[in-house]
Amino acid sequence: RPRVLSGIQPTADSFHLGNYLGALRNWVAMQDTHDAFYCVVDLHAITVDHDPKLLRKRSRIAAAQLLAVGIDPARSTLFVQSQVPEHPMLSWILECHTGFGEAGRMTQFKDKSAKNERVSVGLFTYPILQAADILLYRADAVPVGEDQRQHLELSRDLAQRFNTKYGNVFTVPEAHIIKATGTIQDLTEPARKMSKSNSQPAGIIDLLDDPNRIRKKIKSAVTDTGREIVFDPENKPGVSNLLTIYSSLTETSIEELQNRYADSGYGDFKKDLAEIVADFCAPIAQRTKSYLDDTAELDKILLAGAEKAHSVAAHTLARVYRKMGFREPV
Ligand code: ATP
Ligand code: MG
Repeated sequence: RPRVLSGIQPTADSFHLGNYLGALRNWVAMQDTHDAFYCVVDLHAITVDHDPKLLRKRSRIAAAQLLAVGIDPARSTLFVQSQVPEHPMLSWILECHTGFGEAGRMTQFKDKSAKNERVSVGLFTYPILQAADILLYRADAVPVGEDQRQHLELSRDLAQRFNTKYGNVFTVPEAHIIKATGTIQDLTEPARKMSKSNSQPAGIIDLLDDPNRIRKKIKSAVTDTGREIVFDPENKPGVSNLLTIYSSLTETSIEELQNRYADSGYGDFKKDLAEIVADFCAPIAQRTKSYLDDTAELDKILLAGAEKAHSVAAHTLARVYRKMGFREPV
């Protein structure tokens, strides 16, 4: 079985619809076809301001939500990144093989550093830690949203560069991006992606939001001038984003939706979509809550996952160390 690895940051109290439609949906599906490793990347979450207590809580919520959307610990390895020490160890080695200019071209760094007052070196080297996450498990495929394509390219370049210089150790990973979804945009600022750490509450549908809040957010989503419900991301980014959400959640083609709503206004369309999204999120929130009710069991699942992940990661890192001329870690 080919192997898959992906991660998600515990940077908020909930994941959002963009995370689900752009990535998590694929995580769940790939469990059937791949040897899957999924991690809550808490080391990445400290690249922006963070509160230790909150991070600990959010890592648990993140894990509970992954179980709630359908990650099955009997079939997949689910773990929290900080429990496996090899991630930052490999990251350092990869940093020493990354050009400064190469890292400087990453658009996520440019976006996030423009928005934050405090810009850390960690925010700059973030994509290299991400490469370490992936390469440690010699993953063949990485299911991510469109916003991560550039980082995946860097992981591929680093894998190839290392293999060429020292001999074959790493698998060169492929990005698995759901074309039809690409990126879910912010509901109030459809020019920007929906984001855990950058979106305002009104712009983001959290999977754990209560149904009324979800309905309200959909109904007040920014739509565009005119009243036609057509897919035209350039001129009608707001409506197009809602069409993408509607289409992905109901597995109905955009074309069929355009026909169905040809004689309706934005109001009817949003009212229907509000129900669909609320109905989709409610059971996820419920299941998340029940996983969080038994944190002992949750922590047990995560420890078992970390142990499994660690045995793979340690094996890869030992090979890397030998190639580098280091002594093996004790
Ligand atoms: P942050 O704002 O803290 O970076 P995020 O919302 O971007 O949070 P991440 O944890 O960085 O979420 O990414 C988790 C996964 O979700 C990645 O695979 C990413 O590509 C995907 N993703 C994030 N936002 C979207 C979006 N708006 N549409 C589709 N996929 C997304
Ligand atoms: Mg992100």
